[in-house]
Amino acid sequence: MPNRLFGHSSLAGRTLAVASTADIVLRPGEVILTFDDGPRAGKTPAILDTLDRYGVKATFLMLGSAARANPALAQQVAQRGHTVGSHTYSHVDLGTLDRQAALEEIAKGEAAVSAALAGSGEAMSPFFRFPYLSQTGYLRTTLLQGDLVVLDVDIDSKDYYSDSAQAVAERTLERLDARGSGIVLFHDIHQRTVDMLPDFLAELSARGYSVVTLAPKNGGVFARSIITAELDALRGGY
Ligand SMILES: [Zn+2]
Repeated sequence: MPNRLFGHSSLAGRTLAVASTADIVLRPGEVILTFDDGPRAGKTPAILDTLDRYGVKATFLMLGSAARANPALAQQVAQRGHTVGSHTYSHVDLGTLDRQAALEEIAKGEAAVSAALAGSGEAMSPFFRFPYLSQTGYLRTTLLQGDLVVLDVDIDSKDYYSDSAQAVAERTLERLDARGSGIVLFHDIHQRTVDMLPDFLAELSARGYSVVTLAPKNGGVFARSIITAELDALRGGY
């Protein structure tokens, strides 16, 4: 018999309309599910099926390179009602790049994810996550000043460790219980993540959590303007 920690009656929670990172404020028992590094054939579809079965929506921070390689899958994620943001083009550690190269990598990732969604009828959302959670003050400030919403991580499932699916689920639930709410980081590229998700969502429901859907407040604005302006300034021209 699991401990019921929160009183939400349904696992599907509210939709949170977000214009900036500061808008992401969760109430006790609220969880945001995020999946990075996809889309990946053989993994992402199974995760979508599980999310459907539990009636919840997640946010997918896609790599530009992965979205470009799997545009139909990227479109499927958006068309099934999930939020799609970006995570650079090729998953480089932005902290190791100079400012111009880092902004170009972010812009290239966004452009590729956006291009993959073209024709799907669904817009990309302005959510962005730093690869390896590696950020510089300059990059964070620049992105926060623009339309891009930096999506932080409260609970890292560490699903990239070679643990069992059960160990990942237990670890993540333990950290979530200790915190009471939060943004959970998963990756839709690992089989153990596919395997752990049904039990994880069943436990969330049993413990009375609700899964919040992230939505852009202005419907899919693009951060290109601020990044382009910054790049022009760095290049010394306009
Ligand atoms: Zn990543």
